[in-house]
Amino acid sequence: MTDSTDKKIALVTGAGRGIGKEIAVLLADKGHHVICVSRSEGSCGAVADTINANGGSAQSLALDVADKAAVKEACEKLLEEHGNIDILVNNAGITRDGLLFRMSDDDWEDVIATNLTSCFTWIKHLARPMTRKRWGRIINMSSVIGLTGNAGQANYAAAKAGMLGLTKSLAKEFAARNVTVNAIAPGFIATDMTAELNEKQQEAIVGMIPMKRMGTAADIAHTTAFLASEEAGYITGQVFTVDGGMVM
Ligand code: NAP
Repeated sequence: MTDSTDKKIALVTGAGRGIGKEIAVLLADKGHHVICVSRSEGSCGAVADTINANGGSAQSLALDVADKAAVKEACEKLLEEHGNIDILVNNAGITRDGLLFRMSDDDWEDVIATNLTSCFTWIKHLARPMTRKRWGRIINMSSVIGLTGNAGQANYAAAKAGMLGLTKSLAKEFAARNVTVNAIAPGFIATDMTAELNEKQQEAIVGMIPMKRMGTAADIAHTTAFLASEEAGYITGQVFTVDGGMVM
């Protein structure tokens, strides 16, 4: 762990596995206190324990990010405890793929609630103290699918594209208060989410990537850590595509 005199409080959703876990560990490594959020205590608790065991500082928070009341209550407690959250990474996300005629209302609503509405809820409860402090970093984990669309992912693409509109609008609302809002659009990253694809699908995807490999969670974590840093303070309202050159 680097000894930072500029320790911030960071909250990372979906920090139990995959991209979010890597982000939580890297932000802790940069000297920040990290609140690791995921659905199950088993996953976010294990990540927080690992960070603490390695000399960092973390706590876990198990909740469903789509549960507005639970998020509101948690935010009130966290603000009481820490005064302010400086860095918010909205990373929790799910897929419920299917072609439109087979997509149920629940598949649509669950994906919109978990991926998109949750960002609105967290930001609504945590951004005001950031604007008062005149320092904040909000990073929303979108996807290249939000830029290009994808057959069988109308719900996911709509949620991820919606996150870009949310990002750009709030960047404009908060800019004068020194709170930046940016989005990352990862391409195909090797995590549990993409492990659901069969070998043939994975080969086809790698074939479409100019760099001829899937990305790693670390590729996304480093972009996130940069956007969360002091040095990225003049960047807001942007979408960073991190995809090995797939979408140009
Ligand atoms: P992942 O491996 O499936 O992990 C998802 C994490 O989100 C888990 O920690 C999970 O909690 C948490 N989560 C899911 N639903 C939740 C809910 N309702 N409430 C609280 N936590 C919830 O996913 P990933 O591949 O790392 O993806 C992370 C983000 O990047 C997602 O937003 C995804 O859409 C985006 N993304 C991923 C890729 C990719 O190729 N992997 C590409 C583009 C964008 P538990 O651990 O408790 O289950």
